[in-house]
This record gives sequence, C-alpha cells and structure tokens, in this order.
Amino acid sequence: MVVVPRESMKYDVIVVGAGLAGCSAVIQLAQQGLQVLLLEQARYPVHRLCGEFLSVEVIAVFERLGVLETVRQAGAHPMQRTYLTAASGASFRSELPGTALGLSRYQLDRILFERSQSVGATCRDGTTVREIAGNLQEGFAVSTNQGEFLGRMVIGAYGKRSSLDRNLRRPFVDVRSPWVACKAHYEGIDLSGAIELHAFPGGYCGFSQIESGRINACWIAHERVLTSAASADERICPPALFQNPILAERLRSMHRISPSQSLSQISFAIKNKFDRDLLMIGDAGGMITPLCGDGMAMALRSAELAVPFAVRFLENGLMDFKHQYEAAWTQEFKARLQLGRLIHNGFIQPHLASMGIKACNLIPALGNWIIRSTRGKSVVEAAPAIAPSLS
Ligand SMILES: Cc1cc2nc3c(=O)[nH]c(=O)nc-3n(C[C@H](O)[C@H](O)[C@H](O)COP(=O)(O)OP(=O)(O)OC[C@H]3O[C@@H](n4cnc5c(N)ncnc54)[C@H](O)[C@@H]3O)c2cc1C
Repeated sequence: MVVVPRESMKYDVIVVGAGLAGCSAVIQLAQQGLQVLLLEQARYPVHRLCGEFLSVEVIAVFERLGVLETVRQAGAHPMQRTYLTAASGASFRSELPGTALGLSRYQLDRILFERSQSVGATCRDGTTVREIAGNLQEGFAVSTNQGEFLGRMVIGAYGKRSSLDRNLRRPFVDVRSPWVACKAHYEGIDLSGAIELHAFPGGYCGFSQIESGRINACWIAHERVLTSAASADERICPPALFQNPILAERLRSMHRISPSQSLSQISFAIKNKFDRDLLMIGDAGGMITPLCGDGMAMALRSAELAVPFAVRFLENGLMDFKHQYEAAWTQEFKARLQLGRLIHNGFIQPHLASMGIKACNLIPALGNWIIRSTRGKSVVEAAPAIAPSLS
C-alpha cells in the first residue's frame, strides 16, 4: 500500500490546471498576498491542441497580468484581418477590431506558468489531481499523484474535459459528443497578417501565423470526416478538407514541421459554474466554439471575473458569492456562447457557409457585427491603445 504524505501547509486557494484560466487566476490571487497552490498534470513546456489565435482583447489582459512584453519577445505574430472561405469558393475579407496575436501554446502556457511562479505562487507541474474532497465551509483535501494538499478553496481550471469531471459526476460527461479536432505546425505560406478560416463539409480549419512565421493549422469537424481517412496522414488532413478549393491549395503549398495533436469528444455543453463547491473557470465552466477564436480570451477573462468573488469569500466566509459569480458569468458570456454555437452549426454545412459568406459580402456590417459579438466588448475598446507596440 502506498502511504500518501499529507502536506501540513493549508493554502488559501488551490487551483487545478495551469492553462490560461488557471495561471491567470493564480497570478491575480498571489499578487493579493494569498497562499496559492497551482497543480498541473503536464510537464511544461508542452504542445497543446488549439488554433493559437489570440483575440484582440487578450492584449489588455496580458498587460494586466504583466506578461505582454514576454509574449512580444517570444515572437507573437500580429494579425489585423480575417479571411473566411466556403467549399463553394465564396470568400469574405474583413478587418479585426484591433490587433490579434498568434503564439504557440508551447510558448504561451510556459510564459504564464513562469509568471505564476515569479509572483510567489507554489506551482507544481507533473502533478495530476485525482480526487477532491470537502466543501467551502470545512475546506478541501486535494489528492494527487504527488501527495495530498489542503486548501480553503479550490478553483477548477482543468479545461474542457478531465477525468475529474467523471469523479465529480458532472452531467455533460455522460452525453457523447461527435466533435473531433487536430492541429499541427507548418511552413511554406505567409498569411500576411490575416487569420484564415476555411469551411469544408462537416467542419472548418483555421490558419494562424505564430512565432518564426510558422503556421498553426487546426481543424474541428464531425467525427464522420474521419471515416474516409485511410492513413495516418489522412487522419491529420482528412479528404474532406480538400473539398474547399482554397483550403486545398493552401494545404498543398505547406509542409508539416511538427507532430500533430488530436482530440475527440469535444463538448460545447452548458456546464455548472460550481460543482460540489468547486468554482469553475475557463473551459471547465463553459466553452465557446473554436470558430469564434475567443476561448483563450474567455478563459483569461473568466479568471478576472472569479478572483474578486473568491477573495471576498476568503475575507468574509459568506456563501452568497456563488450566485453572484454565476450571474456575472451568465451576463458576460452566455449570449456569446449561444451565438458561437449557432454560427458553428451553420458554418459546417456547405450551403449555409456559402450563403453566410455571400451575405457578409453584400452587407459587410453583418460580418463585422458577428466578429464583435463573439468577443468581449469592454476589453476590445482597451486593446488598440496597447497593440501598436506589437505591430
Ligand atoms: C479545436 C480547437 C481550436 C481552438 N482554437 C482556439 C483559438 O484559436 N483561439 C482561442 O482563443 N481559443 C481556441 N480554442 C479554445 C481554447 O483552446 C480554450 O478555450 C482554452 O485553452 C481554455 O483555457 P483553460 O485554461 O480553461 O483550459 P486549458 O488551456 O485546456 O488548460 C487546462 C489545464 O488543466 C490541466 N489538467 C486537466 N486535468 C487535470 C488534472 N486532473 N490535474 C491537474 N491538471 C489537469 C491540463 O493539463 C491543462 O494544462 C480552441 C479549442 C479547440 C478545441
């Protein structure tokens, strides 16, 4: 029998998951003088499945977290335009409401993890959380492969799907999701400052230029696109992608320079913001469809939303913050998530994608409205003032 050492130190907050949401929460909490423990199962640095497009509003958030200069030095690639295409060949070009960035998760997650360490939080990678017991009144015991840790509060920032969701019996894990995704890094084309999104039957593929001019290509689709994939290479680039002529031409001009990452069972289900008294942030609290390119911005923002409620609870012990956080989350994100799901479901259908793109060409204000409505308003306005330093 393995005897698990029980750490005597009791933390104010234990954060599970060192992605964008988790690191952002940790940095803010540690800067307020709280004892914070960050637990991450991966060993950094690590490649992650993601479109690696950072929406306009993250620049202001990075500034607040004190990582903007490091992100710039890591070679974040500025983007000011969008380019959308459909399998019919229809296309739409538009300006973004400011400067967005392309940076690999390999770099970004490392930068945020190191920042969490430098502001005084205890950060442990290679530490998988297996079980969480307790509640907000009595405190929590968090069991990991490295021992057990005690904390007054636990924040769940462990992403879209984790074994913890099953342990916590979260309802969405029992509903099968058909969405699969894959990403890899490529060389061979230049996107000239545009984020590209190409629809194909059953899914869509995004191209984002990242550090050193590399291209991150990431697609998400219904799992049926894999049924015609006959080889390992075709599972990375299924035949369905080549039904969009513009996407096909791009893919033929590029060559892959990294291994691929893939994922299945991606769920956009509505999730509780508290489960067994765990405060959920980032994808663990709800995920926007990748088409919007706003998941990382939302993850960062949800941490900013949650931290003042967490601090207030630690100060006064009152439980009313649970409803207040849930209400604030709903007000800020719910409409964005619903619109994101609607556009995602339309964009994967060739006729609707083509009609939508033609409509955006006829009424460009429609395209601009969709881009603005699928990201945070308050922060969009703050971004352009900081963005020029990245251009
Ligand atoms: C196909 C696809 C493309 C996307 N493209 C984009 C895009 O271009 N732009 C964008 O803004 N968003 C995009 N997103 C969304 C974005 O990736 C997420 O919204 C964002 O990563 C959420 O951040 P997070 O911190 O909540 O979770 P994550 O970044 O997933 O971090 C969760 C962390 O928790 C850790 N963890 C999990 N379980 C445990 C455990 N038991 N113990 C310890 N640690 C654990 C994980 O290892 C991970 O490090 C995309 C999503 C998909 C599926």
